[in-house]
Amino acid sequence: MKGCSILMIVLFVNKQRKFDSEQIERLKVVCQDAMDAVSKRPFIDNSLRHQSTRMSVTISFVGSDFMKKTNYQYRNMNSLTDVLSFPLLDMHNGKMNESLGAQDVIWHKDGIGEIPLGDVLISLDKASEQALSIGHDLDREVAFLAVHAGLHLLGFDHIDSDDEKKMLNEQKKIIRTLYPNEKTGRLDAPGSPEPVTENLLNHSGFAAIIGRPNVGKSTLINQISGMKLSIISAKPQTTRNNIRAIVNRPDAQIVFVDTPGVHKPQNELSRFMVDSSVRAAQYADVIAFMVDGRFSGPGEPERSILEKIGRFKKPIVLLINKADGVAKESILPIIGKYSALYDFTSIIPISARTGDGVEDFLEEVIRHLPSGPRYYPEEDFTDQSERSLAAELIREQILKYTNQEVPHGTAVLIDHFEDVFGEPQTEDLERQMVRIYASILCERKSHKSIILGKDGQMIKRIGTGARQNIERMTGCKVYLELHVKIREDWKNAATHLNELGYKPGETRDKS
Ligand code: GDP
Ligand code: MG
Repeated sequence: MKGCSILMIVLFVNKQRKFDSEQIERLKVVCQDAMDAVSKRPFIDNSLRHQSTRMSVTISFVGSDFMKKTNYQYRNMNSLTDVLSFPLLDMHNGKMNESLGAQDVIWHKDGIGEIPLGDVLISLDKASEQALSIGHDLDREVAFLAVHAGLHLLGFDHIDSDDEKKMLNEQKKIIRTLYPNEKTGRLDAPGSPEPVTENLLNHSGFAAIIGRPNVGKSTLINQISGMKLSIISAKPQTTRNNIRAIVNRPDAQIVFVDTPGVHKPQNELSRFMVDSSVRAAQYADVIAFMVDGRFSGPGEPERSILEKIGRFKKPIVLLINKADGVAKESILPIIGKYSALYDFTSIIPISARTGDGVEDFLEEVIRHLPSGPRYYPEEDFTDQSERSLAAELIREQILKYTNQEVPHGTAVLIDHFEDVFGEPQTEDLERQMVRIYASILCERKSHKSIILGKDGQMIKRIGTGARQNIERMTGCKVYLELHVKIREDWKNAATHLNELGYKPGETRDKS
């Protein structure tokens, strides 16, 4: 394969039925050309240019609703953007932050290794709208968006102004190679979503709680919301989704994002988790960095998290948690060590468990929030759908009743979620019952038998516990049916990750 010029494989998923197949085929060519142009730039890390490997990108053309939903889920913004990118590799301006690992390459039968860079979502609706307002055609707009997204996947960003200059500069160069004869045309950053401007509060925005597993992030979220929403467990890495708690005050709203613990990625799933926790920090207005007060000072994970989140140049509040379990005298030296490491906005010892210091923390966060709209109606306590909360509640029971080995190899998939209304149906429909069919996916046969238990005792216990908690959440009767299925290696199967909602985008179809 020496001398082969293809560096980038582009996989497409089309979810936009509005555009006819001829248009879609043309846009695919536009995107392929754009990615080829990106992949030929000299900034790309040499380890990505090996003769026997190809980079790959999955581009999905999606509808407005899907884009809005994704934006809301991953960026806490209730708006329609033109393009979103989800990088898989940890890169900065084209260079790898960490060297390529075995898990980063998929070896195909023909001996070619594929290095997936990530997913790109493009809203053709929004792109058409923008093309119209700028005065060029859809192809040109999509080419621009693809180049922009391709650069994001390679670690370019426009968060800090130095990086932004580099990104814009590369973007211009690439667009010029694609459209050498063009005099004018779009070279700048894609449109940022328009914020809602009515009813601005003095302080409104997003706060992310970051920290290594087990420091007490979920406990704090639960303490704050006063409701049982995210899983609390002594075992690490049980929080997979970003579950939000919302604090409403007369002139302030804080939306909390509970992130999975930051740790070194092992497989596709954990990589996604790390990615999403840093991502949450990136889009937050205030970052709460939580550490365990029982440790005498920062360890390697704390340093590396700080290095990452420090780059975002956001206010960072240091929370020294579990203060209930340590002597007051030992807190002061910890504060000293951390303040030597970073210039924190403030340092607050708290106990997520007892609630000590939590009010001070909330006031500190509010102080640093910009003015903005109330992002969520006051009565909302979470934006997670009942469906995914139900899955979390089932998982919680599995964790509760089985031993360490099983839980992290399992996932819960809600196959069917149905609201049942009473008869006769009146104007104000009252939900009588919720009917849920869920699958518990596990990696091994031995796990399946553990989850089922002797004579099905275990699954019965899991089901009863989960049903009671789901009833508490939905406020009505619940019928819950659980099925245990073996799906080997589900953690690495992109398809399953998609089904489970861990990743946006679509099934990777390589055929
Ligand atoms: P996460 O992984 O950061 O979300 O951590 P969790 O919230 O799941 O908490 C991990 C463990 O620490 C659980 O056993 C909690 O009960 C415990 N924990 C959390 N906050 C506190 C606290 O303020 N004091 C004490 N003593 N334990 C806590
Ligand atoms: Mg947690």
